[in-house]
Amino acid sequence: MAKVNGHLAQMHESYLFSEVAKRAAAFSAECPERRLLRLGVGDVTRPVAPCCVEAMKRAADEMGGAATFRGYPPGTGEPFLKRAILLAEYAPLGVLLDESEIFVSDGAKTDAGALQELFAQDAAAAVCDPVYPVYLDANRMAGRRVVRMNCRAERGFCPEPPEERVDFLYLCSPNNPTGAALTRAQLARLVAWARENDAAILYDAAYRDYVVDGDCPRSVFEIDGAKEVAVELCSFSKGAGFTGLRCAWTAIPRENRWRLGELWARRQAAKFNGVSYPVQRAAEAALSAEGLRHMEESVRFYLENAAILRRALESAGIACFGGANAPYLWARCPEGMRSWDWFDALLRGAGVVCTPGAGFGACGEGYVRFSAFVSRGDTEEAAGKIARSAH
Ligand code: PLP
Repeated sequence: MAKVNGHLAQMHESYLFSEVAKRAAAFSAECPERRLLRLGVGDVTRPVAPCCVEAMKRAADEMGGAATFRGYPPGTGEPFLKRAILLAEYAPLGVLLDESEIFVSDGAKTDAGALQELFAQDAAAAVCDPVYPVYLDANRMAGRRVVRMNCRAERGFCPEPPEERVDFLYLCSPNNPTGAALTRAQLARLVAWARENDAAILYDAAYRDYVVDGDCPRSVFEIDGAKEVAVELCSFSKGAGFTGLRCAWTAIPRENRWRLGELWARRQAAKFNGVSYPVQRAAEAALSAEGLRHMEESVRFYLENAAILRRALESAGIACFGGANAPYLWARCPEGMRSWDWFDALLRGAGVVCTPGAGFGACGEGYVRFSAFVSRGDTEEAAGKIARSAH
């Protein structure tokens, strides 16, 4: 009998989204005349910018020409894309990095899952509760000890650093699922804690394009001393709409205490062969003046959706968090209800699909997550129906 990974074998099926899909499908089968308003999924719905499409077409033509054909791309990313990232994403923040500190990849999820490989087998990780499940699952599969950092409304869903020793912690801001963005002061405290406790921060900034509040940093490297302890994960998915194209980057400054950049370069050279050339050209175009304008419009559109939903929920007396610097609203269930109960009530009463907070961790119990990645029509219809069903 071949020995399989026991840690993986012990993990059950990802319950949350399969159960959401199962309950929504059962309801549709029961009431086929009811159209469901799907506010559960964290996938974008607006198309990518025309300049990205044009860039991909040009790159595809290059691949078909003998003189312009390209084989494997550079494993850590095309220099033209790294330069665009430094110029458009870091220079305006006053963050100085160079090309060797940028690692282009096919997704922040890929990197969030893989970065744990840089740490020892017996290293301990800390994750927020509620949590984007990838951090937890990747470490569980590796058989690593994982400590939870509770995030509660009283502290603006900012994690409390763990009391026990951990080697690395995941932070996510703006946060999935709570929609909370860490303020400069909150992040500075966490960075100071990591420096004092010799722990690395894996900072997931996949939603950084949604930060509109000047008091919330877009990059962890805006915080003094962060370059020494933090690794930053960013993505073209949520702002530029690349969820189907796949492009992201991880930044690891040279100052990193544990030389994680060198380890990541070595790991990527062994296991990763780069992102396709047309997609990297599209990502470069997403950072052009036209691409950035398109991204801003998309972000504004989704944030307006979030504001519409938030107003409707609050007018119905529901406590609501997030949505200001993130495409997610984190709503407290009406008095005494549990996450899955309100999920069922919204599905049956309003025809609205959300994501039960309990699926993201114990601290998510009593909340649900609404995604703003929907059309304006569906947002307005859902807002009205949720508000009416809450009365
Ligand atoms: N990080 C967070 C916090 C997310 O919520 C998601 C997607 O939902 C990702 C990363 C995935 O990003 P990518 O599409 O770049 O893999």
